[in-house]
Amino acid sequence: MKYPIVRPFLPKNSTYHQFIDEIFERNWLTNNGPCLQELEAKLKAELDVEHLMLVSNGTLALHVAYAALGISGTVLTTPFSFAATASSLLFQGITPEFIDIDLHSYNLDIEKASDEQLDRASAIVAVHVFGNPCDHQRLQAKAQKHNLKIVYDAAHAFGAKLDGKALLSYGDAATVSLHATKMFHTVEGGAIIFKHKADLEKAKKLINFGFNEKQIPDCIGTNAKLSEVHAAMGLAVYEHLPTILEKRARLHGCYTEALGQHLQLQVWHEQSSPNGAYFPVIFKSEDELLFVSAKLTEQGIQSRRYFYPSLSEIPEYGMQGFTPIANEISRKVLCLPMYFDLTPEGITEISQVVIDALTSYRSGM
Ligand SMILES: *Cc1c(COP(=O)(O)O)cnc(C)c1O
Repeated sequence: MKYPIVRPFLPKNSTYHQFIDEIFERNWLTNNGPCLQELEAKLKAELDVEHLMLVSNGTLALHVAYAALGISGTVLTTPFSFAATASSLLFQGITPEFIDIDLHSYNLDIEKASDEQLDRASAIVAVHVFGNPCDHQRLQAKAQKHNLKIVYDAAHAFGAKLDGKALLSYGDAATVSLHATKMFHTVEGGAIIFKHKADLEKAKKLINFGFNEKQIPDCIGTNAKLSEVHAAMGLAVYEHLPTILEKRARLHGCYTEALGQHLQLQVWHEQSSPNGAYFPVIFKSEDELLFVSAKLTEQGIQSRRYFYPSLSEIPEYGMQGFTPIANEISRKVLCLPMYFDLTPEGITEISQVVIDALTSYRSGM
């Protein structure tokens, strides 16, 4: 494959091993170790947030956030997301009620929720899709009126800003994935940012079996700790963070310039700019998408139908909600290769294959 869809960022092997050597000397491998503490401190400073904790992945970050905030019953959420957004709810016995998305931002459109739905729910779980900020003001107004918690699945939002503040600082809780393929990573990992200190403290117990200071469980917990080896990768990658963020935003710009005239692109929040987490394009039809993605594959370019299908069309997820826009966008969206090692020249090449395939499809060949 000449251009894979994603490629993890690797720091210098020697940088990583310096951290690993220190871990071997200490023989402190997990349970709130020094590497984890250092990475938490760095991320708090970087994001300008107070109540941040690292966990073992972005899915458990969601589980723990729901439990810490006492979310139960019914939750209003988006069907246009990765499986984990809904499965984490269902796994905990919470019912996702799918609310349709906005045609342009691809984010949950809370105006589409009825008062009855808003009154029935205990929380809104929204996703900053592909790093594009949700309409936070509008969500917050609804949440206040109907007494709902807001959790942002901010798995894609590392590096994104809204009104000059880290997007991860919005909501009662925001969760991020630090998986190898995401913007910033610890191989496997995740983080939760809480608005309130009490929720953070609850969550810190939840990720460690529910143990209190006397090592006795006083709530039902799980194990969602991040190991020192993972935190070490985070510290090594962290040294490259400004370069990663700058490069990905630039690559996003290259794609936009090359393809903006040819395909429908995601419309970005006015108070924000793309972080370069993904590059999705929308075709005029599913047939057109399948034609172009086959041409890309022929040329050694991987693409991915992300997110497809809409979560509201998966029987195991309950099929609750009327979401024609999400269903439609899911059928017509394709993500193109996006990763740190990609170059502007690579993007020109990929875009040209897309444009040529579109031209031949649209001329009926
Ligand atoms: C990647 C992702 C997750 C899950 O994160 P993991 O770290 O892989 O568990 C959750 N939600 C969204 C939207 C994601 O893209």
